[in-house]
Amino acid sequence: MNIADYKDIYVFCEVKDGKIHDSSLELLGEASRLVNNRPSLGYKVVGLIIGNYDEHLIDDIGYFGADKVIYLKNEGINHYSTEIFTSLFMDVINNDKPDIILVPATVLGRDLAPRVAARCDTGLTADATKLDFDPENLESPLLYVTRPAFGGNLFGTIINETKRPQMTTIRPGVMEKLKKHTGRQFIKDIRNVDISTIKDSVKVLEVLQKDHMAVDITKADIIVSGGRGIGDNFHILEECAKMMGAEVGASRGAVDKGYIKKDHQVGQTGKTVRPKVYIACGISGAVQHLAGMEKSDYIIAINKDPEAAIFGVANIGFVGDALEILPLITEEIKRYRERPF
Ligand SMILES: Cc1cc2nc3c(=O)[nH]c(=O)nc-3n(C[C@H](O)[C@H](O)[C@H](O)COP(=O)(O)OP(=O)(O)OC[C@H]3O[C@@H](n4cnc5c(N)ncnc54)[C@H](O)[C@@H]3O)c2cc1C
Repeated sequence: MNIADYKDIYVFCEVKDGKIHDSSLELLGEASRLVNNRPSLGYKVVGLIIGNYDEHLIDDIGYFGADKVIYLKNEGINHYSTEIFTSLFMDVINNDKPDIILVPATVLGRDLAPRVAARCDTGLTADATKLDFDPENLESPLLYVTRPAFGGNLFGTIINETKRPQMTTIRPGVMEKLKKHTGRQFIKDIRNVDISTIKDSVKVLEVLQKDHMAVDITKADIIVSGGRGIGDNFHILEECAKMMGAEVGASRGAVDKGYIKKDHQVGQTGKTVRPKVYIACGISGAVQHLAGMEKSDYIIAINKDPEAAIFGVANIGFVGDALEILPLITEEIKRYRERPF
């Protein structure tokens, strides 16, 4: 293997509900940031999409940051198949020699990326939270991939010096997507692929949709989040959230106690959120919780304990009882909303 033959950053673009999954758009944004920070490499951002889709999806990949989109098209691909996607991905790796491959750490990505990495005998850093090129050598394409380890108590930076491609999966919500720019120019490379020789031993009989009533806190602008300190008083958070058009989040402490469902959990083993405002009530601020919310634009913390770690990341902190303070906030917002103009 000649490492110098490998170039560019490839982003696997996953499609969900007829749209490019946000987590892939975020990776296109991150790949653009990386190539812009290291112009000496002359790398491009390449989006890779596999299946049978409308052309507008291909355009979206370009509008969100790809310089080139490789579309592996076959009318027979109507759903994800580990074997078919892995084989087609391998053809691209052998043919185009990508230096770096970013895959979203979604359920699909977590299935696909390790298969591909194993098949081309390279390393895979899973669940990364930070990417950067080698800070010592400004000509180097070596990717420094940081991820939490030992239950989030340590962060490790992993490099792959000897194998290519350099592969990593990245958690949804961690990176920032670019604004959609419909005037962006990019290359479309549409390849009609043959899947007749790929042996797929899995037959998909039916695809069942998940309960759509489940909350999606990752899209919320404001999150009112509760921890173990709230006890079984989450209705107080719900009232406050309703008044602000916010969603309710939670720490794992609260979820484990059964105060609220796991869908609401923020953190390393929950969801990563970056709302405009995050209000943490009765949450101590363990590293595993901070990992999921510290990139919020503005953090407000309410905690009885002035030494609580959550105050370390908060823009504004209230030392006091959240069960007393929150109803006052709710009342004040209500009064403000109902004021005569
Ligand atoms: C591998 C691993 C993964 C994990 N993943 C996650 C994760 O994804 N998300 C997550 O959150 N945690 C996660 N954890 C757990 C994490 O380490 C903490 O145990 C958890 O975040 C604590 O939840 P908490 O802050 O609600 O509870 P506590 O740590 O018990 O804190 C409660 C806080 O409430 C305050 N308080 C009490 N009463 C009041 C009141 N009336 N008003 C105001 N403040 C009050 C207390 O002062 C205290 O600071 C993980 C742990 C491990 C090992």
